[in-house]
Amino acid sequence: MPSVTVENYLKQVCLEQSRRGGDELVPMGRLAEAVGVTPGTATTMVKSLAEADLLRYAPRAGVELTPAGRRLAHRVLRRHRLVELFLVEVLHMDWSEVHEEAEELEHTISDKVLDRIDELLGHPATDPHGSPIPRADQPLIREDSVALASAPVEQTLTVTRIVDHDPEFLRFAEANGLMPGAKTRITQHLPHADAVTVETENHEPVTLGLAAAARVLVQSEDDDVT
Ligand SMILES: [Zn+2]
Repeated sequence: MPSVTVENYLKQVCLEQSRRGGDELVPMGRLAEAVGVTPGTATTMVKSLAEADLLRYAPRAGVELTPAGRRLAHRVLRRHRLVELFLVEVLHMDWSEVHEEAEELEHTISDKVLDRIDELLGHPATDPHGSPIPRADQPLIREDSVALASAPVEQTLTVTRIVDHDPEFLRFAEANGLMPGAKTRITQHLPHADAVTVETENHEPVTLGLAAAARVLVQSEDDDVT
């Protein structure tokens, strides 16, 4: 079984790659930041992962997963996201507190237990934050939602996903109705304040800074949902 460190590197490369549409290499600086190590440490690790054929490393350009690396990354993400959903749906934990638990359990839960969870939950497609639950044999998941920060004004939008799992931010999102599946609408762009005002069904209008609005992904009604 791969170590926790290996799994975390592969997971972060996978997340960064899908954020970038899947075609771009992930710069080493970005990866080091995501894993929480210095660039030097990340480079040493990446070289050994490349030797194990889990990553492709292009010096000065960045990294991408090989098919073997992607399979492992998807297994970790699958465990993380199924565990999150289990904790919310079955153990009734708050969606703001399950990410930390899943960060641990994603490395330790057995396939047998995970399969039972998947079955119990009816083979769900997304986790409580709206992130897709991958299968190990699936190609890289492409993000087809856009950030609320760059969505069009005065259009009906559906919240698809919250990408920041910081408990404070999740509580803020929930208090303002910004949950996966909710309908919302940008009523105002305030470029000089770096902010947008949104109106979400059954909630008072709220103003979000663009940094916060970048953490909420939405789909416009007119988009094809694929
Ligand atoms: Zn999470």
